[in-house]
Amino acid sequence: MTTTVLISGAGIAGPALAYWLRERGFAPTVVERAPALREGGSAVDFRGEQMTLLKRMGILDDIRAKETAMGAQIVVDARGKKVASMPSVFFSGEVEIERGDLTRILYEHSKDGTEYVFGDWITGLDEDPDGVTVTFAHGEPRRFDLVVGADGLHSGVRRLTFGDEELFRTDLGFHTAGFTVPNHLGLDHLGLICSIPGRTVMAASGRDGAVLNIGLLFASDSLDVPRRDVAAQKKVVVERFADFGWETAKLLEGLKDADDLYFDSLSQIHLDKWSQGRVVLLGDAAWCAGPGGSGTGLAMMGAYVLAGELAAAQGDHEVAFARYEEKLRGPVKTSQKQAAGIGTFLVPKKQFMIGYRNFLYRVLGSRPMTKVFTWLTSRAANAATLENYDAPVAIRS
Ligand SMILES: Cc1cc2nc3c(=O)[nH]c(=O)nc-3n(C[C@H](O)[C@H](O)[C@H](O)COP(=O)(O)OP(=O)(O)OC[C@H]3O[C@@H](n4cnc5c(N)ncnc54)[C@H](O)[C@@H]3O)c2cc1C
Repeated sequence: MTTTVLISGAGIAGPALAYWLRERGFAPTVVERAPALREGGSAVDFRGEQMTLLKRMGILDDIRAKETAMGAQIVVDARGKKVASMPSVFFSGEVEIERGDLTRILYEHSKDGTEYVFGDWITGLDEDPDGVTVTFAHGEPRRFDLVVGADGLHSGVRRLTFGDEELFRTDLGFHTAGFTVPNHLGLDHLGLICSIPGRTVMAASGRDGAVLNIGLLFASDSLDVPRRDVAAQKKVVVERFADFGWETAKLLEGLKDADDLYFDSLSQIHLDKWSQGRVVLLGDAAWCAGPGGSGTGLAMMGAYVLAGELAAAQGDHEVAFARYEEKLRGPVKTSQKQAAGIGTFLVPKKQFMIGYRNFLYRVLGSRPMTKVFTWLTSRAANAATLENYDAPVAIRS
């Protein structure tokens, strides 16, 4: 009998894992809480070793076909005057794509041979020596050999298996909001960044010239905003940015009609162990790093390693989970370290810190510094080296 694997979450890590499991002879099922693929989110970039992974998955051409082809990011002051210019490699890596386009590509490449169930979620996991009985909010209970929590920062599988989120979440002191509005700034493969103390607005237009991708960041303590209450989230964003100045009033006007708001804290997840019995965590659910930590690339790398180790261990999940963790711990540490300090860089809290940050941008963005700069931005991306797992193996439970 083929080993059955239930994956919770059809974001990035979930479909990437489904792809590799199917390639290696497993039978994956993905259950996603949302009624359809969630195609929102800002752009994500790949560099270094991650490019090899995209090639190995056979998705690099599809990604290139949808890449943002973003040019420079211009830092402006509150009057709109240019103060620094960053080459595209800093923010956009070797190839950059909207998160939504990426999740669609991963879904399309994994859906043959994967069962996708939308609009449902796991409510209970009952493990015995032979497998896991899983109950769902809507569907009938089912049996699986293994269960993977790839359900993001607020993972339901993590809560059911390890305990409340608060035990593992460290907030970095910032919130982020991402959404799209019409391109009233007329940006053409260009991004603008404007900071005032404790707040930053980023506007960029890439592949779809009709649209501006907006990223707002603000310093804050933990906020009590319900995760699925979009109206409440929009209200918070408008309150925080109403007096920002620059072009922000128009962006907030556009937010009223935006149907793709992504709003969350910048947080990290730290767990001593990523698996328990037949249940294992992957991606943000296991190790969310926060911005600048190459979280998307690492989630995809983790999916590759997890599937590879499961195949190599011939179905011995204990061995596979231990090896997966051993291989990913180092890269995750690098990624979390890099991301932990980036908030203050993206959102300086004092005016003099904005000046210092802009000075650094000017230095790092200058031609002689390009190599240093590329090295700095590639550290997290290259933290995981890509193993060559053997050819597909049919797995028996
Ligand atoms: C819509 C969206 C927009 C995003 N935008 C940004 C952004 O702008 N900037 C940024 O830094 N990061 C963003 N992220 C997070 C980013 O995608 C991840 O940090 C990274 O790509 C790792 O991916 P992941 O698959 O581990 O988690 P995610 O991409 O977060 O995917 C998790 C998936 O699990 C689903 N899910 C959640 N709970 C359950 C449950 N109980 N049962 C079943 N499914 C569940 C979610 O709906 C989601 O589809 C966004 C995530 C989402 C879902």
